[in-house]
Amino acid sequence: MDRDRALNTIVDRKVPWDIVIIGGGATGLGMAVDAASRGYEVVLFEQADFAKGTSSRSTKLVHGGVRYLEQGNVSLVMEALAERGRLLQNAPHLVNDLAFIVPSYEWWESPFYGVGLKVYDLLAGKYGFGRSRHLSRQKVIDEIPSIRTEGLRGGTRYFDGQFDDARLAINLARTATEHGAMVVNYTVVTALVKDANGVAQGVRLRDVETGTDVEVHGKVIVNATGPQADAIRRMDQPAATAVIAPSQGVHIVLDRSFIPGPSAIMVPHTEDGRVMFAIPWRDVAVVGTTDTPVDEVSPEPRPSHHEIDFILATANRYLARPAAKHHIKSVFAGVRPLVKLERSANTAALSRDHAILIDPHSAMMTVVGGKWTTYRKMAEDAVDQACILAELPKVPCSTATLRIHGYCDHADALGRLAFYGSDAAGVRALMEDNTEWAQAIHADLATTGAEVVWACRHEMARTIDDVLARRSRSLLYDARAASEAAEKVGMLMAEELGRDSVWVADQVESFRELAAGYMVV
Ligand SMILES: Cc1cc2nc3c(=O)[nH]c(=O)nc-3n(C[C@H](O)[C@H](O)[C@H](O)COP(=O)(O)OP(=O)(O)OC[C@H]3O[C@@H](n4cnc5c(N)ncnc54)[C@H](O)[C@@H]3O)c2cc1C
Repeated sequence: MDRDRALNTIVDRKVPWDIVIIGGGATGLGMAVDAASRGYEVVLFEQADFAKGTSSRSTKLVHGGVRYLEQGNVSLVMEALAERGRLLQNAPHLVNDLAFIVPSYEWWESPFYGVGLKVYDLLAGKYGFGRSRHLSRQKVIDEIPSIRTEGLRGGTRYFDGQFDDARLAINLARTATEHGAMVVNYTVVTALVKDANGVAQGVRLRDVETGTDVEVHGKVIVNATGPQADAIRRMDQPAATAVIAPSQGVHIVLDRSFIPGPSAIMVPHTEDGRVMFAIPWRDVAVVGTTDTPVDEVSPEPRPSHHEIDFILATANRYLARPAAKHHIKSVFAGVRPLVKLERSANTAALSRDHAILIDPHSAMMTVVGGKWTTYRKMAEDAVDQACILAELPKVPCSTATLRIHGYCDHADALGRLAFYGSDAAGVRALMEDNTEWAQAIHADLATTGAEVVWACRHEMARTIDDVLARRSRSLLYDARAASEAAEKVGMLMAEELGRDSVWVADQVESFRELAAGYMVV
């Protein structure tokens, strides 16, 4: 993952790429892995950092979606459960199973949810993560010691998956690169290039770091820009009607003491008809999410006070010690790229299925919707279509069993570096090389200098935000500590990337401004 080398190759290339992908989130990166592993020549442009958009802001669940069962969408649930199993097989360093408990305070809740979750078990079949069962009141308290016990009758436990979304994105970028794809961050597509018949045959892009404009040609152009997909479609057809119904989801991050046990809480029905989770994630607890339709898609969506109050109020119905604003270590928002199939005021009711649209004039392909869990299947379907459009020789998809970069089947033994998988040895070697790099970047963060150096050398990190938000996740663990660590991280990065003190000062200032948006008080 050498950005300069990739850009030089792209500029020097005289023949069209097989596939040009716009957008480096779950959808675009999944396609890059799929296409490159079939042997196609593929290039991907991401306007910011990989997973800077929705793909680093999810609830971090690899799940069938218990809720979609209730909506009667059995095929979507079955497909997602199979993908959940495949992702655990192919990236065991990034995925783990997790017990979820639906607590019951009413007599009917346990039998009602118990039956639904048995169906969920059955649909998972051979991909099952464990069988659901009824738990006594005491067992629920053992699993979730922080639960409100007043009126508690018991609960139902089921199993689903948990993963690190941004780390998976980085590992997909590395997997794609290893199979020959060119994936480049900080390259924004500014226009489509068309032939005399109006058929899309390339893109114009700007290297955000140098301001240089480049024209790149491809046999098929794929728009994988998630919530921004309509903006790209309008570059193609200015009058295109919107297909995206953007919906904002917010999570708050609390100290792990709020969910100290091994199990998560799942609330099947909040007041606004959503599912809410309170999940143990490494050293913190993540609670969310909301579902609020929004008109504009910002690259840094901000949570409203109303959303934060709603999450706290819902969580506090289930927690013995109430969480307050001053307990929030970080708050993050993301925008779901839901596909508009019908007019509906309630975005929670819109389909989580994916859609592939092909413009009849330009032949540009747009791939939208879906969810992280099903990114691989979505990529397979999209590359199959892209091959037809680009008239590429048919090669079968192999990603169902393709190991993702970092694959390691004993990652648990790697302790805090587990999510690096097979790269953990390289990170450790850096710590041994330089005692300063073995130190944590901040007293309240476990991330070390070695991880900053590793991110610059091997993971195409270009800004402090790339390191603190998506390579190390420090911004999500503790926004204040991340803000305080910015200068140290900037200096380590400057040395690796050959930047000066003005760059460090600019970077620190813009990161601190960004981090302020993740703090509540
Ligand atoms: C709150 C929330 C919780 C969720 N939780 C889960 C969950 O637990 N499990 C699950 O499976 N799914 C979950 N999802 C869904 C999942 O996160 C998304 O479906 C998925 O991340 C969408 O990926 P994407 O690549 O389509 O979009 P994005 O991740 O937004 O990627 C699109 C990319 O395109 C880039 N781009 C835009 N315009 C341009 C341009 N002109 N040039 C170059 N690049 C451009 C953007 O910068 C962006 O990085 C959740 C979503 C939300 C919002």
